[in-house]
Amino acid sequence: MFFVPIQYNEPIFRPPGEAQSAILQVTIGCSWNKCAFCEMYTSKKFSTRPFEQIKSDIEKLAKIYSGVRKVFLADGDAFVLSANKLIPILEEINNQFGKIQRISSYALPKDIITKSNDELIQLKNLGLKLLYIGIESGDDKLLQLINKGETFKSTVEGITKAHNAGIETSIMIINGLGGRKYSHQHAIRSAEIINQINPKFLSTLTLSMPFGLDHFESRFSGDYQQQSIKELFEELKLFIENLNVNNVIYRSDHVSNNLILKGNLSKDKALLLNQIDEAIRNTPANLFPETPAFL
Ligand code: SF4
Repeated sequence: MFFVPIQYNEPIFRPPGEAQSAILQVTIGCSWNKCAFCEMYTSKKFSTRPFEQIKSDIEKLAKIYSGVRKVFLADGDAFVLSANKLIPILEEINNQFGKIQRISSYALPKDIITKSNDELIQLKNLGLKLLYIGIESGDDKLLQLINKGETFKSTVEGITKAHNAGIETSIMIINGLGGRKYSHQHAIRSAEIINQINPKFLSTLTLSMPFGLDHFESRFSGDYQQQSIKELFEELKLFIENLNVNNVIYRSDHVSNNLILKGNLSKDKALLLNQIDEAIRNTPANLFPETPAFL
């Protein structure tokens, strides 16, 4: 474990795939901060950090993590920064870290759409090669009920624009997001959107309620009916069954998941469905998810 002599504004989150990366905080919190299910940054007021502070952190991180070749930009949607703000940050990372392999961040589709094609290519050429995007669902009704601030159309537009610039994406879908009432449309439309965008990475998380059911219901604008674990598996099965993608690497290994799944959706779809079927067979109908202790 390294001692990191920089002051993070806590709490700080990173995707599981960035466990070996240097974490550079360029924004504080999430500029949107309104999604009904998300409590990650509700304790923070969104702000951007001054370049001089970021530059100082890059210098320190590059010294401590001298062998590290990946940098993750935090917080919630660091890609909200304009290209004019991101470019000097990426240049400084390249200057200080040397042979950088990949810079990545969380992003919202709207953050991509507001950048020009040339800006996206410039960012990619400076090492910004991967964006993590929680699209959560492909169903417009559900996106509205959770107050995502995006639609099927805006999501496809943003992600396609990133892909056309050579930036890859890692997409997150939330199993159980709409509860029993919206489960079918959530699974089908989420498969449709993944089929359209064909991301490099796809992961499913399971809806968590760190502050309890009542709190979630007070933020969700629809009729939320909690699903049992068996129903969550059935929704996941419907989603996977309807995927028709090329070489997408799939993971369901978040702490919120009741079933760990890993595979390539081109080669391993039948195997993944068999694993889900087995989980459905072996799960009692009256078992409900517990509130996890990770938030
Ligand atoms: S955009 Fe992402 S980080 Fe921000 S509130 Fe929504 S889920 Fe949370």
